Parts: sequence; structure tokens; C-alpha cells
Amino acid sequence: MAIATINPTTGETLKTFEPLKDTEILAKLDLAGKSFEEYRQTSFLERSHWLEQAATILDQEKPDLGKLMTLEMGKPLKAAIAEVEKCALVCRYYAENAANFLADVPIETDASHSFIKYQPLGVILAVMPWNFPFWQVFRFAAPALMAGNVGLLKHASNVPQCALAIEDIINRSGFPKGVFQTLLIGAAQVANLMADDRVKAATLTGSEPAGISLAVASGKQIKKTVLELGGSDPFIVLESADLETAVSTAVTARMLNNGQSCIAAKRFIIAESVADQFEKLLVEKFQALKIGNPMAADTDLGPLATPDILQELDQQVKNAVKSGGKVLTGGHPLTEMPGNFYPPTIIIDIPVDKPIAQEEFFGPVALLFRVPDIEAAIKLANDSPFGLGASAWTTNTEEQNRLIQEIEAGAVFINSMVKSDPRLPFGGIKRSGYGRELSIQGLHEFVNVKTVWVN
Ligand code: NDP
Repeated sequence: MAIATINPTTGETLKTFEPLKDTEILAKLDLAGKSFEEYRQTSFLERSHWLEQAATILDQEKPDLGKLMTLEMGKPLKAAIAEVEKCALVCRYYAENAANFLADVPIETDASHSFIKYQPLGVILAVMPWNFPFWQVFRFAAPALMAGNVGLLKHASNVPQCALAIEDIINRSGFPKGVFQTLLIGAAQVANLMADDRVKAATLTGSEPAGISLAVASGKQIKKTVLELGGSDPFIVLESADLETAVSTAVTARMLNNGQSCIAAKRFIIAESVADQFEKLLVEKFQALKIGNPMAADTDLGPLATPDILQELDQQVKNAVKSGGKVLTGGHPLTEMPGNFYPPTIIIDIPVDKPIAQEEFFGPVALLFRVPDIEAAIKLANDSPFGLGASAWTTNTEEQNRLIQEIEAGAVFINSMVKSDPRLPFGGIKRSGYGRELSIQGLHEFVNVKTVWVN
């Protein structure tokens, strides 16, 4: 894939970049390794100060940074600006909390003195996707840098200007040179990076094939990885739910980021008794969404990020229909518009045993399933190779407890959509990946948890 900015709203190639040469990659690795030796000696106070500075820059420059994101990957501008604000939030969260999270933990044993000490690992590689081009990077960088690690970013090839802007923000914040560097390289270079002694661990957010490839390369070197991969999150609505709120939230949960979010609600599992009403309201709300130029303030749904994603989604919808699914609204790419536009789409009646029911739809397509009761709802929710998040709607406490207990996912949200929050761990089980980001758990992924025993 060429490293380039191609406007998904128009299809126009705006800027292309030459990938780094091998010698340039080696020079950056060298700088990262050397920077780590000095950076690890800096205090939490210094690191917090730099990260606070990054938050200030993000807040000050959010209109331009938002525009850059929208230009490169097509999310509505208001969402892009909100994403920059969330990056500032995660920087402030770790600036304030990291020192506590990483403080020595005394443990009473039969030693005269024993404790846990957290130390940085070194150079961490982040392989990141285009869908939240700023957020995904900052939620890695803020804890990693606070822990005393240094970062190398291999961003998705379609968001090179975002990747360079992030490096620039971190440099301008005062962090020492080489603590965070962007590598404009293709995916094929990642395995070589993992084989380099200076790189100690890696994190990847993206597709299953990319995750497998990184895990294999890291496994060969016995290096730690965190993987945040796809999801086909269930959105369960039971009889006692507040239906109006559930439907409005369903629209947001599915359409977030033009439907291209790993934690978007993708399979809507609705109790038979309220299914007709839910379906009718969802169709109305999907049809009322404004599709168009993502730079416009009143646009709800912009284009998909690349022509490939559009084509794959179109093929999946065709397969769903071939498998017995019925389209209630949408169902075809909007070929009359330039760019990668696909309309809000609802598909019902896909037989649950068909392979397509197990796939992740990375775009504005909702799959609706009807179930007789909570038993069937939980069974269907868990009948997925993925296990990222789940949203479930019921006012019955006993049902809430069952859902919390029995849903197989990294997160369960009751009467709310699934969302990430710096204060809470984020990540999946099953084929959605492993490890956690955010919160104290995210910070502890890339540290040496050293046991100290003194007699
Ligand atoms: P990819 O997984 O291909 O891209 C994500 C990142 O991984 C990019 O930086 C990419 O680089 C890199 N990458 C790709 N292949 C490899 C590899 N073999 N080894 C190492 N790094 C690699 O996502 P796509 O953009 O192709 O999207 C396809 C699907 O991925 C979506 O339909 C969705 O299912 C899933 N996805 C999930 C995301 C999530 O948030 N969990 C985010 C994005 C995608 P490069 O761009 O240079 O190829």
C-alpha cells in the first residue's frame, strides 16, 4: 500500500511519501535506543510536565488537527475534533496518575524488605490503524512515555500526515529528541523491526491478519505484544429496556466513525416482544442521517476510509443477502457520489449458522437478530469468534447480573454503548486480541514488574 493522503470524500491523491530507506530506519532505531538510556533517567515530574504540554498543544490546535484527520480518513469533523480533545484527556490522566501507578509496592514476606518495582522496557513499537488516527496513538504513547519507554510509530499508510503531526506535537511538548519517532514504512518492514534487539515489545491495533503477523514475528523473538483487533460486538435489547434511548444509542453505537470502529455495535440482538418496534424506529433513524462531506458541520456520515473497505463491505452485504438476509434500508454503495460512500444499512433474517453472521462488518451496516428470551440472547451474543465489548439494555437487575456474568467479552456496558475511558481498562478476549490499554493495566503492559527481596 502506497504511503499517501488520498481524500476519501473525493478520491483525489493529495500527497505521497517515499517510504524510509533501510539506512534511515537504522538511524532512527539507533536514536531510539540511545534516547532510551537517557530518557529512563528523567523524573515523573519532568515527564508529566511534557505530557501536560502535549495536552495543551492538542487543545490549542484541535481545529486544524481535526481537519487533517477528516481529510485523510473521512470521519465527520466534529468527531475528529472530539477525538483530539480525548487525546488531551488521556495525556492529562497519565500525567496525573502514572507516578502513583508506578510507585514501588511493598509486600510483606519473610525477607527483611521486599517490594515490586516497575521499570521501563525500552523501545516499544506501535503499529496503528487509520480509524482513530490520533486516539489510538495517544492512548499508547501517554502511558508508554510516562513509564519511561520510548516509542516508534508505524502508522497506517493512508494517514501519513497524522503520523507526522503526532511526532511533531510530542517533540514540541519538550520530550527529549528521539523519545517518539514516526517511521513512514510499509507493513512488510514490521517483522524486521521486531527482530532488532533495540525493539523490546510491540502493540498493534488493526485487523486479524496484521495481528497474527506481528504476533508471529514477536513470538520468534520472545517479545511481548498487546493486540487490539476486530470485534462484532452485540447490542442486546430486552423487553424492559427504555426503547427510545436504546434505539438512539444504537444509531450512535453503529455509526460512530462512519461505522469503522472495533467497538461499534454490529449485531443487534432484540427480544421478540419489542423487535417490531425497535426495527421500525431504527429504520427511521438510519434514513434520517445526513450523508455527505465530512467537513460540513451537519454531516452525520462521511465516506469510508478507502475504496478497499467500501468494496469489502459491499461484498459482505451481497453475501449476507445470498445467505438469506433481507435489506430493510440501504444495501448498495452510493455510486452517484464521488468518494467511498456507503449508506446506513439494516439487514434482518440472516440465518445465525451462516458464516457471514460471524463476520465483522466494518462500515455503517447493522445486522438485526430476534431472540425469544435472555437465554437465547446470551447464547447468540457469545456465538462469535470475537469478544471485545457488549452493550445490553434491560432495567431488570437479575438480567443485568446474568449479562455481566455470562457475556464473553472484554467489557460489558449495561444501558450504555461501549466506549473507551482512560480510567477503565480496554481490550478483548478470543480473536479480538489480548492485553489491555488504558487505566493502570494499560500502563503495566510495557514495564518490567521487578521483584525485589532484601535480607
Ligand atoms: P490493517 O490491520 O491492515 O492495518 C492496521 C495497521 O497494521 C496498519 O498500520 C497497517 O499498515 C499494519 N499492518 C497491516 N498488515 C500488517 C502486517 N502483516 N504486519 C504488520 N503490520 C501490518 O487494517 P486495514 O486498514 O486493512 O483494515 C482492514 C480491517 O481491519 C477492517 O475491515 C477491520 O476489520 C480491521 N481493523 C480494525 C481496527 C480496530 O480498531 N480494531 C482498525 C482498523 C482495521 P499499512 O497501512 O501500511 O498496511
